[in-house]
Amino acid sequence: MTKTLAVLGSTGSIGVQALEVAQLMGFEVVALTANSRTDILEGQIRKFSPRFAAVADETAAADLKIKVADTSTKVLSGKAGVEECARCGADSVLNSIVGIAGLAPTLAAIETGSNIALANKETLVAGGKIVMDAAAKKGVAILPVDSEHSAIFQSLQGCQSKKQIKRLILTASGGPFFGKSREELSKVTLEQALKHPNWSMGAKITIDSATMMNKGLELIEAAWLFGMEAANIDILVHRQSIVHSLVEYIDNSVIAQLGVPDMRIPIQYALTYPDRFVSPVRQLDLAEAATLTFEKPDYETFSCINLCRRAFEKGGLFPAAVNAANEKANELFRCGKIGFLDIPRAVENAFDCVQNVSDYTLEQVFEADNAVRTATERLFR
Ligand code: NDP
Ligand code: MG
Repeated sequence: MTKTLAVLGSTGSIGVQALEVAQLMGFEVVALTANSRTDILEGQIRKFSPRFAAVADETAAADLKIKVADTSTKVLSGKAGVEECARCGADSVLNSIVGIAGLAPTLAAIETGSNIALANKETLVAGGKIVMDAAAKKGVAILPVDSEHSAIFQSLQGCQSKKQIKRLILTASGGPFFGKSREELSKVTLEQALKHPNWSMGAKITIDSATMMNKGLELIEAAWLFGMEAANIDILVHRQSIVHSLVEYIDNSVIAQLGVPDMRIPIQYALTYPDRFVSPVRQLDLAEAATLTFEKPDYETFSCINLCRRAFEKGGLFPAAVNAANEKANELFRCGKIGFLDIPRAVENAFDCVQNVSDYTLEQVFEADNAVRTATERLFR
């Protein structure tokens, strides 16, 4: 039987690669969503003939309806339309929406019983407990698309008990500004920040990689996905992005997953797990790579990593708060309104914007998200 797939955020960097994998694997694509880029979405609709497509921006949705009026795809609009696509009942829902906008669709897909291939890390950072509890209740799998988490997931195959794991080691490329001082970082430009040495990705995550906030978000993502304490998750800078992450076991044996930096490997594994299939991705030639290097991150200069660690350890709404501050500051930096080091400043400020609560509802997550965004804007006014 052909596997059915919905791709949320199909017009982005991960979404486009997910559709490439879907085509190769012969999956039936049943739903696609975007925010506003209807030209790309129109092309995808004509190629994959999904039953549903949704566009979050209402005006763009109206535009798409006209563009694909001659097809059998039903076009939906707004946040509700995106959530309806998430609820289409596909075998797998790959969520590659960027930011907290992906949280409600992830929950909608879980409630319907679809397995989740998750690229949208902000979902787990902001609403980790809610998402993991919902998935456990429904018995659905959350399969990581993020390359580090896929590497850990792959390195954990065969592990019988969590007690056998000593620590998870997330690798980080270090981004375009590795080795720079705070003084140098205060002068970097948007153009420089957008030049990632190893990966070609959407603009938001590319800036997150430059500030290394991405690694902080990934630490929280790993803690939720694998049920680990933050203290048992380490970060190692590995400039070549070949060793995608590692698991250290209690006998001091370390298992890692390696491959060329190409997201189609983790995307495919999340969609075909537990099976593996031939992939068009280039073979890894370790002799050609020659040297693999590893070193500790500069936590003082790239303060976002430890701010995320602190947020996870404090728990409650603090992870949602640092995520919201980062999303807002990242956007302001991309619009040229603030400097590069204002991003960690905003993330640090987030701790003063929410109350400490032991448990939280989805509504409280969205309230905290809104409050921190407003406070972040005020910080730079
Ligand atoms: P892109 O910016 O390239 O794509 C984002 C997608 O989300 C687009 O389809 C966009 O639509 C859609 N979108 C944006 N805002 C909204 C909204 N408010 N409501 C609904 N849809 C929206 O991002 P990436 O593909 O790079 O990243 C996606 C996610 O995957 C992020 O969470 C990122 O951290 C994670 N990730 C990405 C990796 C990568 O290699 N790119 C690696 C690991 C994780 P439109 O095109 O219309 O704007
Ligand atoms: Mg990653």
